[in-house]
Amino acid sequence: MTAQMEKTLSIIKPDACNRNLNGEIISRFEKAGLYIRTMRMEHLTKAQAEAFYAVHKERPFFDELVTYMSSAPVVIMTLEGPDAVRKNRELMGATNPADAACGTIRHDLALSIGENSVHGSDSLENAKIEIAFFFPES
Ligand code: ADP
Ligand code: MG
Repeated sequence: MTAQMEKTLSIIKPDACNRNLNGEIISRFEKAGLYIRTMRMEHLTKAQAEAFYAVHKERPFFDELVTYMSSAPVVIMTLEGPDAVRKNRELMGATNPADAACGTIRHDLALSIGENSVHGSDSLENAKIEIAFFFPES
């Protein structure tokens, strides 16, 4: 069976933007067959970061996460391709770079469990919600 065409949301986080890794990360998506359909660089406000990560608001790291995500510009993209949600998560690697497989973005580039270079939607349902959050016109 051929894989389903999907869209997912990707964010290149401040640690990667600050280290000039946007091209490196985007190149990995493109080489894996994911197409950038929308893209914007933006310095998120604390309120935007809080709203985007609202599902994590009871977690102990919430304040740290929101402060970090609003500390510097990020690149927000929709990626499209066959099986895009799962493929993007595979390219990203595990949340903690120490646990991420060799060759993944987080293994190769991330600094820590917090400063882990990329966000990616974790399900097709959440991808739709997250894309609508940042690109309501789409
Ligand atoms: P993922 O980004 O892999 O989907 P989660 O949704 O669990 O991971 O967490 C969202 C983000 O919160 C992570 O990418 C990371 O930046 C941050 N985070 C998660 N766990 C921790 C932690 N224990 N300490 C600090 N930050 C964390
Ligand atoms: Mg997540």
